[in-house]
Amino acid sequence: MRSNALAQRRSVALQGAAVRARAPKVSNVARARTGTAARAGLSVDLKGKKAFVAGVADDNGFGWAISKALSEAGAEVILGTWVPALNIFETSYRRGKFDESRKLSDGSLMTFSKIYPMDAVFDTPDDVPEDIASNKRYAGNEKWTVSEVAKCVEEDFGKIDIVVHSLANGPEVAKPLLETSRKGYLAAVSASSYSMVSMVQHFGPLMNKGGAVISLTYLASERVVPGYGGGMSSAKAALESDTRVLAFEAGRKWGVRVNTISAGPLGSRAAKAIGFIDKMINYSLSNAPLNEKPLEAIEIGNTAAFLCSPLASAITGVTLHVDNGLSHMAVSTDSECFK
Ligand code: NAD
Repeated sequence: MRSNALAQRRSVALQGAAVRARAPKVSNVARARTGTAARAGLSVDLKGKKAFVAGVADDNGFGWAISKALSEAGAEVILGTWVPALNIFETSYRRGKFDESRKLSDGSLMTFSKIYPMDAVFDTPDDVPEDIASNKRYAGNEKWTVSEVAKCVEEDFGKIDIVVHSLANGPEVAKPLLETSRKGYLAAVSASSYSMVSMVQHFGPLMNKGGAVISLTYLASERVVPGYGGGMSSAKAALESDTRVLAFEAGRKWGVRVNTISAGPLGSRAAKAIGFIDKMINYSLSNAPLNEKPLEAIEIGNTAAFLCSPLASAITGVTLHVDNGLSHMAVSTDSECFK
């Protein structure tokens, strides 16, 4: 058997050599050109795929950039927007405030097939406490718990292929862990990690085999980032661990892949609310291996599009750092002691 296989491989190799020997001579430049032409087929192609993206309420954050990259690749994008932010987002969208950043490379504008109200902290209507149900920021909206949104998406669109979790919230993020209350800590984990578990639970059954889930995490899960408090570092650590476990469970159950992107610092609305994002961007410019420019949201978008595409068909359970390499640095090169 073994010698047969060896002989076969040798014969294939020899045939290859014969073909090469017969091939006319081409210059390196010509070879590079034909090579490029031949390779142009390898692109991120999401035509015909449907994506549900949770966590878009303006055009600055990662959710927007991921939506844009998915749209560039041909996917249809459906949004889930936090209920208290929905009205202003929809109004700005309708009034054309985002038109410039909606522009795709072919000149057309990115469109969303539907924008659902959503609050990822609640799984079913029974979970919603009275103060939220009667809150005026929620008035006029319905069916916004995770299970209800998933049901509506299924009714409106049938099966989907991609689920993006690009949201986080930690009410005590500005407090060091030593000063964080139990309530604040659990709220951070509920909004920033369990929300992903809940989304996979409820959207998994309506995902096509080969589908992909993406979330966003941050380096503070594995290294100390003073200032990223309130249990947010713990929430991101849970998110990364859950990514691995969900990759196994959702992979076996539905043939769906689950990955998370550990993004470098970006001055999004959420990050600005934490308060020290400009310092983190400057720190990255001073210390990251790639330091010519700050990380751009679209670089996360492009990575997400790749991870959701068939090109990443064997990648699951991964925490992928997309941060100009900052997470690899053990020393800060701008430290006083190196001067
Ligand atoms: P962002 O403000 O654009 O996105 C956060 C979104 O979460 C907002 O749209 C907000 O409305 C939504 N949200 C908050 N609570 C919600 C809830 N209960 N239900 C539904 N939606 C809710 O900011 P961003 O920085 O792009 O954040 C997206 C993800 O990227 C987050 O997970 C964040 O932790 C992560 N991340 C951000 C950075 C950074 O430097 N900005 C770095 C690494 C990871």
